[in-house]
Amino acid sequence: MPVSGPSISLQNIIRQYGAVRAVDDLSLDIAAGSLVALVGLSGSGKSTLLKMINRLVDPTSGTIRIGDELVDSIDPHILRRRIGYVFQNIGLFPHMTIARNIGIGLELAGDTEGRKERVAELLDLVELPQEMATRMPDQLSGGQQQRVGFARALATKPGLMLMDEPFGALDPVTRDNLTEQYKKLHQRLGLTTIIVTHDMAEALYLADRILVMEAGQIRADATPAELLSGKAGDEAEALVAIPRAQAAHLIELSKST
Ligand code: ADP
Ligand code: MG
Repeated sequence: MPVSGPSISLQNIIRQYGAVRAVDDLSLDIAAGSLVALVGLSGSGKSTLLKMINRLVDPTSGTIRIGDELVDSIDPHILRRRIGYVFQNIGLFPHMTIARNIGIGLELAGDTEGRKERVAELLDLVELPQEMATRMPDQLSGGQQQRVGFARALATKPGLMLMDEPFGALDPVTRDNLTEQYKKLHQRLGLTTIIVTHDMAEALYLADRILVMEAGQIRADATPAELLSGKAGDEAEALVAIPRAQAAHLIELSKST
């Protein structure tokens, strides 16, 4: 099921909440098919930025385009079928089977034809066994539930995936597995992805471009290679210092054993 991720363009975006500027005159172009990580401290405006792209939040001013369409000219229901959204607290419906959770977007859109086959295909895609289709969410581990969240987000074949700390609540091993599998999925499906993460190591591994947000603005914009080689400036360097020190520490430990 090949899809083709769109480009995204934000121009002079401001989002004001009372006296707070969550996003402060931010402009950004994201190339079709790229995997962009958004990092930065809590409160820097990352979630607000994502939610303006799928119109969960409207900008106070500025324009957002997906491909060459203005998002506010697209019907929100249609827009959300074209954008997969995954967030930390998964949000599965506890009283619905896994199959129904995955197919809910199709069901709401009246897209019932071939739904069963589509759910089976999606379970394969996120590497969950078919027998999980009939289970309830509380019968799955956290990692499995998050796979269901991914399957649900992919059900309507979106070209764009917005992910807000999708791996945040998972243990490190599950997190590593899912990160790796998502990277492959992104490439295989030709998606455009924006992922918010707290974890710089994850951003370095996963993304082809890293944006550092602070106070509603982008303070650094670099590739992982640029960040690691120290070419992205002092602020960016401070962010890679921790994973860099951890990696050095592990290498030291492995030498001494
Ligand atoms: P992040 O995702 O980087 O932690 P957010 O986008 O959630 O940041 O928040 C950015 C700023 O906007 C914060 O100061 C936050 O308190 C404020 N904010 C976000 N959403 C709302 C809201 N619905 N009402 C009022 N203030 C908000
Ligand atoms: Mg957030």
